[in-house]
Amino acid sequence: MAAAENVKVAVRVRPFNSRETARNATLIIAMNGNSTEIKNPEDLNSEPKRFAFDHSYWSHSEYNERSDGYLEASGSKYADQQRVFDDLGRGVLDNAWKGYNCSLFAYGQTGSGKSYSMVGYGSNKGIVPIFCDEIFKGIEEKRKTAGKDEDYQVSLSMLEIYNEQVRDLLNAKSMTVKGGLKVRQHPSKGFYVENLTACGVNSYKEIDGKINDGTRNRTVAATNMNATSSRAHTIVAITFTQKQPNETGQSMTRTSTVNLVDLAGSERADSTGATGDRLKEGSAINQSLSSLGNVIKALADQSMGKKKVVVPYRDSTLTRLLQNALGGNSKTIMIAALSPADINYEETLSTLRFADRAKAIKTTATINESPTDKLIRELREENAKLMEMLKSGGVVMAPAAGSGGGSEEIEEMKRQMEEELRKKEEELENLTKSYEQRMAESAQSGGSGTVQMHQKEEGDKKVIPHFWNLNEDPALTGMIVHFIKPGKNRLGNKTASPPPEIQLNGLSIQKDHCEITNKDGNVAIKPSPSAQIMINGAKITKETKLSHNDRVSFGPNHLYVFHHPQDYAKKVNAGEKVDTPTFDTAQEEIAKQSGLMTASDGTSKDDLLLQEDLIQMLPMVGEATAMAEELKKGVKFEITLVSPQARGQKDGKTEVMVKMIALDGSGNDWLWDRNKFINRKFLMQEMYQNYVEGDADWDVPQDKDPFWEPADVEKLIGTTHVLLQSMAYNIDLEENLVISDYKGNDQGHLDVAVVPCTKDFTPVPEDDFVEDPKELKGKPVYCKIVIKSARGLPSNIDKSFCRYKFYLDKDYTQTKEIAGTINPDFQHENKITVKSATEQFIEYLNSESLYIEVWGRQKDRMGREKTVVAPKAKDKGDKKGGVSNGNAGAPLPPIGDNKAKEEANMYKKQAAESDKKLTSINDYLKKRKAMGHDAMRMEDVEALLAGRVPPGRPVQTPATIQGGGGGEADGSKACTIQ
Ligand code: ADP
Ligand code: MG
Repeated sequence: MAAAENVKVAVRVRPFNSRETARNATLIIAMNGNSTEIKNPEDLNSEPKRFAFDHSYWSHSEYNERSDGYLEASGSKYADQQRVFDDLGRGVLDNAWKGYNCSLFAYGQTGSGKSYSMVGYGSNKGIVPIFCDEIFKGIEEKRKTAGKDEDYQVSLSMLEIYNEQVRDLLNAKSMTVKGGLKVRQHPSKGFYVENLTACGVNSYKEIDGKINDGTRNRTVAATNMNATSSRAHTIVAITFTQKQPNETGQSMTRTSTVNLVDLAGSERADSTGATGDRLKEGSAINQSLSSLGNVIKALADQSMGKKKVVVPYRDSTLTRLLQNALGGNSKTIMIAALSPADINYEETLSTLRFADRAKAIKTTATINESPTDKLIRELREENAKLMEMLKSGGVVMAPAAGSGGGSEEIEEMKRQMEEELRKKEEELENLTKSYEQRMAESAQSGGSGTVQMHQKEEGDKKVIPHFWNLNEDPALTGMIVHFIKPGKNRLGNKTASPPPEIQLNGLSIQKDHCEITNKDGNVAIKPSPSAQIMINGAKITKETKLSHNDRVSFGPNHLYVFHHPQDYAKKVNAGEKVDTPTFDTAQEEIAKQSGLMTASDGTSKDDLLLQEDLIQMLPMVGEATAMAEELKKGVKFEITLVSPQARGQKDGKTEVMVKMIALDGSGNDWLWDRNKFINRKFLMQEMYQNYVEGDADWDVPQDKDPFWEPADVEKLIGTTHVLLQSMAYNIDLEENLVISDYKGNDQGHLDVAVVPCTKDFTPVPEDDFVEDPKELKGKPVYCKIVIKSARGLPSNIDKSFCRYKFYLDKDYTQTKEIAGTINPDFQHENKITVKSATEQFIEYLNSESLYIEVWGRQKDRMGREKTVVAPKAKDKGDKKGGVSNGNAGAPLPPIGDNKAKEEANMYKKQAAESDKKLTSINDYLKKRKAMGHDAMRMEDVEALLAGRVPPGRPVQTPATIQGGGGGEADGSKACTIQ
């Protein structure tokens, strides 16, 4: 009987990447023998946390790059790919030969090096390809001396789990099947994926080609479906079967299934950070990973002797499929990939804790060997049963009462049984056929066709200009190639007829998106009128010539690099250094072109972190807008940088936030923080995927709709700050201040006063100012903070209030909320008593400001009709009749928007002019007062100002927007009034 064995756990730390190097990241990992330590970068003097694993691989430093790109050790600490394979992969290989099931997991956050260890890059081949290479080497060795009745078979399956759905990566057609493949349970063998392709492979080249095909299918699907590939789990399953006679001459069959699992990025489910979002629990995107955590915890508890632990395998697709690998008949290894950089401290620590828990898990592997006869007999019996069932019309398995099973369902069951039967027969054939027979058949059916295709493509790449793709996941980069053949090449989506030479699908790709011509090697691209195409970050509108290494994007999702073999050769011959573009550099230039990032940005650490956020979020925001457009959600998204002051905080970092803007002319918008946006985006993707798959029910009720937000959520309209210096001189201060939003735009005015008072809260006489603020020390201070009113708030504001914190206040002081006007009279008065002014208090008055936040709730769509027509779901008829129950709203007809726009512009100009005057007068006043002059009477100035300043910004009523005719064709754009 086989004994239980602990899961073997290894950790590996990668080098700093270019961004970490650029910002001088602090190294937080140290390794010594089998011990791994992690330091808290916030507290470098504290004791590091220590862990012990079966292997600790230092791949961070002490290496050289060979001319072929292979990273080899230059010091004794460094662990290269070969070393990792020798320790981990070779054991898997030996066990596969012995007939054990094996599983190898890679765990870690996105970018930590999971794929590097599992699959590898270029000449730094990872465990999967070396394993495949070695297994065929072993088979060849055996065959040299093998007898006739010996046989070795390898077959490959490759699948991904995304959003709880299983996709067969070796079957491009099945990738878009609605809901993915079904996971079923076999009475004795456990969970399996129904109809999953298993390809017989006869050489390393073949298996390598198949894995390549799988990765390519994955890339195409992720791009078309607008999926975030780092959220997918990829499983490569290799089944190795050996048929050999035993000592007594009886034929025995030994089978081993090797699961190589590249898990989704372990970074904390973004939704946990999306505090306050009503939809934070909505997405299934992280379900498998959190279930994996729960299963591992339960298994670890179990092995520690805890009784009655229920292991929740059934909670997710991943844990169901890997039940054996985790707690059953398998020899299992976990490799945890670690980021060495300070900003990943929390994640890396959580990865180490996860790995530590995994160490405790025990599995019991047994050799899977049976007499071949017995297997054949069993298979025949199963087949006979299936046949019988089919003959009797499948009624034996008639659907349970209440499932509403009609003839359709029975048909489906029959189809499944037939498929099962076909598979079993194939299995049976493979068992009974000899090796020679199989090889002959494979040669005849052109089994190595893919290999030849790959070889041809590699050859073509050297002579024909082409595009190769960039993906945020380096493992998916360069997987798709489109050749630009001489003459005209049309690029468009699958609805174009005849089919275009280059077919791209997904967000914002038009039927005829553009034309790419190759005239004697000169390649130029001509966009269709409204097609979204950018070259090197800049949008193009007319025919543009392409040069080698240009970055070209089609819609928000398809990003390519143009490769011109001849121009490239010229450059190399001229001794020019040609840098290969990366996804990051391409995103960076888009950010720069959009004006969000200046060339000089990125000097300080904070700038660099901000830049990283920008580069990550920018493409997502583009995708969100494109999805909203295609689903006719009546909103768009913009990325914005928000300073801490604009968020109403005294200090902190500038943050990247996302603004959702209603296109219904209401002027409503909502500011989301990064986590909330990312969480929402996963939900948008789910909705979009359902839509693309032709699900009639793709749309959801408003309260579940990621594109919807109630108009009347509280929203920060803007802030204003009152310099308190005059108070330090006991001079009263009364100001009409501009309320600015986070962009610095005027959002109205606020009438504020800070009035020094006597003990009974009457204003101190005007000539009673102090010469030197220090005089206040030790004395009581009384004053009133008065917020009289606001004028000219944005026209879409329905209710408003102000809040602030004075001096050391922990809580906000809030005014009343005033409804139904954009000129609210708050009439707020707050009496403040400071018993004895300290130096700190005087310093506060002297140098700081009182920040007042103006908050509001928006009007709901300005009283327009609420029900809008949702777009028809593609392919299938829309059963719901195409009417959604009041979603965020499709763009409304553009009635008289030009006029509204003009008006808005005029008001903007007026407001800007009066602001200028106000500011200069205010400045003058402040200076005079701070110097102790009181010759200028406040009332006079106010009168002066009142005479010139219009009473706030005029109101745009729906009537004024609707008045007049004309308007642009694109309602969504024309409706935006800023
Ligand atoms: P993940 O699959 O965890 O998202 P990757 O394996 O794609 O991460 O690694 C991210 C980047 O870091 C890749 O560019 C990869 O080449 C690099 N990298 C990861 N591990 C190593 C390593 N051990 N040595 C050198 N580069 C590495
Ligand atoms: Mg990866």
